[in-house]
Amino acid sequence: MTANATPDLGGRCYCGAVGVQSVSPPTSIINCHCHQCRRLSGAAFTTWLSLPRQATAISGAANLQHFAPSENGLRYFCKHCGTHVFTEDRRMPDILGVPAGILSTALPSNPSGHYFFSDKASWTACGDDTPKFGGPSGFERVDA
Ligand SMILES: [Zn+2]
Ligand SMILES: [Zn+2]
Repeated sequence: MTANATPDLGGRCYCGAVGVQSVSPPTSIINCHCHQCRRLSGAAFTTWLSLPRQATAISGAANLQHFAPSENGLRYFCKHCGTHVFTEDRRMPDILGVPAGILSTALPSNPSGHYFFSDKASWTACGDDTPKFGGPSGFERVDA
């Protein structure tokens, strides 16, 4: 590996039937506290990586099922183990949203912000100094 080579990002579902590999760093990393992410993950919030679709390969795609929780969103999960592997949004066709929890490699940087923070689970403490956004849109600064 040369000194300035970008390390690959990779991850997989719990059972390993589906894998995600990207040769590009994420274009963004955020924490989402919205009700949809909370319920579909079963966790307090989801850390999302936005990966350029053309730089990202999905292996074992025959093992995927998908679900449309909204008009624009499609969430793909492993039909064997149920892991949510990635999300597509019709409004951003060049991007795949990948939950950071499936990564086997390190995140290249920490999340840049908490979004839909007004909807966060009451039992979650987020005492870090990462910017927090919420309000009706989920994207208004709420900690400044
Ligand atoms: Zn699986
Ligand atoms: Zn969300």
